[in-house]
Amino acid sequence: MKIKGKFISNWDNDIEISTKAELNTKTGEVISESLEVVGLDILNEEIFIADDEEIAETYIICEECHEYILKIEILEGVGKQLYEHYHCMNPDCDNSSGELPELLFTK
Ligand SMILES: [Zn+2]
Repeated sequence: MKIKGKFISNWDNDIEISTKAELNTKTGEVISESLEVVGLDILNEEIFIADDEEIAETYIICEECHEYILKIEILEGVGKQLYEHYHCMNPDCDNSSGELPELLFTK
């Protein structure tokens, strides 16, 4: 399924840049209109927000390849303790970690 939304990048100094984008929920690929960024150095985070309010979902975009979303899974660890794990959905990208980006904690 493809859903329309916005690709939002959050930069240093609280600058936010938003462009139209489309997310393929099956592959995790985000296709956005190319944006030209001038004079900004530090990228804090990139997210995709669906236009459809019923979906109302925020997806975190991979900070390595900037083209795919991170897939988040709840896994069971030692002592049946649940923990969150994420990995990039791009098969050519090996961004994977047990730690979630800060965004989810502030939500
Ligand atoms: Zn990636």
